Amino acid sequence: MTSPHPQRTVSLIDRFQRVATDLRVSVIDKCNLRCTYCMPADGLPWLPKAMLMTADEIARLVRIGHHQLGVKELRLTGGEPLVRRDLEEIVAQVRADCPTLPISMTTNAVGLDRRARSLLEAGMTRLNVSLDSLNPHTFQELTRRPFLDQVLAGLRAADAAGFAPVKINAVLLHGVNDHEAPQLLEWALESGYELRFIEHMPLDGDRAWRQDRVVGSADLRESLSRFYTLHPVSESRGGAPAELFDVFDRPGTGRSLGRVGLISSVTEPFCAACTRTRVTAEGRVRSCLFSHEETDLLSLIRDGATDSEVSHAWRDAMWRKPRAHGTDRAGFTRESFVQPQRTMSAIGG
Ligand code: SAM
Ligand code: SF4
Repeated sequence: MTSPHPQRTVSLIDRFQRVATDLRVSVIDKCNLRCTYCMPADGLPWLPKAMLMTADEIARLVRIGHHQLGVKELRLTGGEPLVRRDLEEIVAQVRADCPTLPISMTTNAVGLDRRARSLLEAGMTRLNVSLDSLNPHTFQELTRRPFLDQVLAGLRAADAAGFAPVKINAVLLHGVNDHEAPQLLEWALESGYELRFIEHMPLDGDRAWRQDRVVGSADLRESLSRFYTLHPVSESRGGAPAELFDVFDRPGTGRSLGRVGLISSVTEPFCAACTRTRVTAEGRVRSCLFSHEETDLLSLIRDGATDSEVSHAWRDAMWRKPRAHGTDRAGFTRESFVQPQRTMSAIGG
């Protein structure tokens, strides 16, 4: 194999010429919900605090990613990022080191009502809130917690603080909340949120994923089309996972109501255009959600490695990124597909 890194390479490029510019950092593995498609009912064996990256360590990795490796966007995730009490400190440190870097967070919004403003003031630029149902019973069935009101309060606080546009992530499961898709879209359009439907991936703690529970984007588009007219947006999708549609009202008045995104990770994987690099809460790089391989950057840092040594290890890890997470478009159902040990919550979705 030729050397992956000529001296002047400054990007996280892989063998298939994809360049990772979108960094997702998990700040904690713990969560206050137990979504059935993500975590087991009893939770997981949480990482001891000493194994989690500190605010300083997170800031250092982001600084290396941004200033040395071409990272252009940061998303904080988990577990549930709001479970970390020093989240504002993490954001403020990153912001001080990287003044122009967009910093977003994926959150379930439980507790956001008390922290939306302080997060904005610390330098957070955007929020993605996960919400799969507006019905309290279904919300509780899906998350195993009765916290819908808290999520809605968190969203109101995000609006009041001035986060806009807030994006909403919704995972649909057949027979559980798929019938709510049009209602979720109506609510999001009326509230000024950008809704993204994400296909359910085999990254659940219960290992109960089945293809027949996945609500595929093609079927979803058809069912939404009974209520709305959807037109693919004209601009190029680039490395974005969501296929975006302009939403128009059904009577055909031509009035645009907003947009919706469909993320078809299972039925139409977008691996060829992937721009993501992920770091887990204990500081390990994963080049792909479905990797079985990780590179431990935190141990390097704690052993006194220089920025350039850390950056070299990160580039090596990304160079080996697999071509795709399945063997073909239906890769997850192939015998050769092996679900990773880690759940979505432990990787950082
Ligand atoms: N706790 C935060 C939240 O729920 O927004 C952040 C972490 S969560 C792992 C990030 C995103 O992954 C959420 O939008 C969640 O719905 C999604 N997710 C979790 N498990 C998934 C799965 N098995 N398939 C598809 N999306 C999943
Ligand atoms: Fe927690 Fe997010 Fe996983 Fe739900 S999806 S259990 S909120 S980490």
